[in-house]
Amino acid sequence: MIPPAVPAALDPLVAAFLTDRDGVRAALRRYGSPLHLVFPQIFTANLAALRAVLDVGAIRHRICYAHKVNRSAAFVRTAAHAGIAVDVASVGELRSAQAAGFPADRIEVTGPKGATALRAALGAAATVNVDNLWELATLADLAPAETIVPVLLRVSGFSGSSPSRFGIDLTEVATALELLVRHRNRLRLLGFAFHLDTAATAERVNAVGDCLELIERAYAHGLAPTVLDIGGGLRQVFTADADGYDAYDRALRAGLLGSGPAMHWGNNTFGYHVAEAKVHGGPVFHKYANTESAADILAALLAAPLPGHGGRALGAVLTDNLLELWLEPGKALVDHAGITVAQVEFVKQAGTGATLVHLDLSRDTVTAADQEVLIDPIVLAEVAEPRPAGVYFAGHLCLERDLITQRQVRVARLPSPGDPVIFPNTAAYHTDLSAAQAAMHPTPAKVAVLHHEGRFVLCPDADYRPGGR
Ligand SMILES: *Cc1c(COP(=O)(O)O)cnc(C)c1O
Repeated sequence: MIPPAVPAALDPLVAAFLTDRDGVRAALRRYGSPLHLVFPQIFTANLAALRAVLDVGAIRHRICYAHKVNRSAAFVRTAAHAGIAVDVASVGELRSAQAAGFPADRIEVTGPKGATALRAALGAAATVNVDNLWELATLADLAPAETIVPVLLRVSGFSGSSPSRFGIDLTEVATALELLVRHRNRLRLLGFAFHLDTAATAERVNAVGDCLELIERAYAHGLAPTVLDIGGGLRQVFTADADGYDAYDRALRAGLLGSGPAMHWGNNTFGYHVAEAKVHGGPVFHKYANTESAADILAALLAAPLPGHGGRALGAVLTDNLLELWLEPGKALVDHAGITVAQVEFVKQAGTGATLVHLDLSRDTVTAADQEVLIDPIVLAEVAEPRPAGVYFAGHLCLERDLITQRQVRVARLPSPGDPVIFPNTAAYHTDLSAAQAAMHPTPAKVAVLHHEGRFVLCPDADYRPGGR
C-alpha cells in the first residue's frame, strides 16, 4: 500500500529555489547539512498582505512581530526595517530586537516575566504587556522616579474560551484598575490585550466585545486607554491539496482501526483515541488542514458583526471609537518563509517490513512541540522513472522515538545516500522551539536566501542586512 500524498503548499520563490538541484547541493556543501534556510522577502510579502487588509478597513493599527516564532536575525531585522513593532517574550529576544534597530517605543514585552525581565523591560523603556497583578504591582515598585511605564493589561477568562494560564482573569480586572489609578504617576494604561490559542473568529469577536467593556470601565476610573491588542493566532496554509490531506487522514484512521494497512509506526495514534471499533477525537496535526490565509482570517474578523453594537462590523466599531488595533502575528509573518534541508544517509528495511530512510537530522529539528507534521517532505532525487513507495523518515539520534515521521510518507521513488530532503514551511516554531542538540550534534546553520537580479544569493542569517548588501 502506498500512502496518499500530502503535498506542501510552496511559495513561488521557494519553488523556484528548489528547481535548482545543484544550487541546493552547493548550499549544503557550503553551510553543512542539515540547514535552515529563511526567505526574508517572503516575510515582507506576508506583512504586506496583512497591512493591505488593515488599510482597506482604514484601521489604525500596529503590527508587532512575535519574535518567539523564530530566532532568525534576518526576520527580526526585516521587521525593524519595515517599520513595524516587535513582541519579545524574553530578555534574549529583547536584546535581539534592540540589536536589530527597534526603538523603545516599538518594543512590547509579553509573556510571563520575573523581576529580572521586568527590570530589563524598564531599562529598555519598552511597553509592558502585563500578565498578572504581581507584575503590575512590581512594575509600579521598580519604575524609576520620573518615568511613566506604558502598559497593556493582558486579560483572560472570556466566556466560551478555554481556560488560560496567562493573563489577568476578568474577575480581577477591578483590582488591576485600582492599582493603575493608585500608581498613575508610574504606570500609564495604553489598553487591553489578549492572545487566544485558536483561530476561531467567533471566539476572538467575543473577547473583543469583553475588552471594549473593559475600556469603558477604565474610562470610568479616569484612565484613557486607546489600544486593543488581539495577539497572534492567524494561521498558516501548509497544504497544497486539502483533499490529499483528507485522504491521508482517512487512510491513517483505517490503519489505526485495522480496516486498512497501517500508516502509523508502533503504537502512535496522533491524538486519536481508538475504542469500540471507532476512531475518536481529533488529531494533533489538525492545523495542517487549514486552507484559509492569515489575511483572509484577519479580514473576516474585521468584518464580523460585533454583538451589542447594532451589528456594526468589528473593524468599524474600533474606528468609531478611535481605538488602535494591535496585532502580534508570529506564524502568519513567517508562513512559507523557511525550509529545512537535510540529506539521506542510508535506506534500510526494519523487521516490520517498513522502509526507513535515515536522515542526518533529528525529529526535534523540524517538528513543533512533537506534533506530527502532516505534510510530506520533498526528496530532491536525481531524475529517474517514478516508483512510488511508502517510507518512514528516521532521525540520527539513537533513540527509538527519533522517527522524523511516525507515519508512512509517499515518495516518488526510494532515495539514495546524499539526496537532499526538504522539509517545507518550517520557519514557524518547527525549527526553533526545540532545536535538538542531543548527542553533540551541532545546531544546523541558518542562512538567508535572497532573490536578487534573477539569481538566488545566500547569506548567513547573522550577517543579513535588509536594504544593504
Ligand atoms: C506566541 C504568541 C504570539 C504569536 O502567536 P502566533 O500564533 O504565532 O501568531 C503572539 N502573542 C503572544 C502573547 C504570544 O504568546
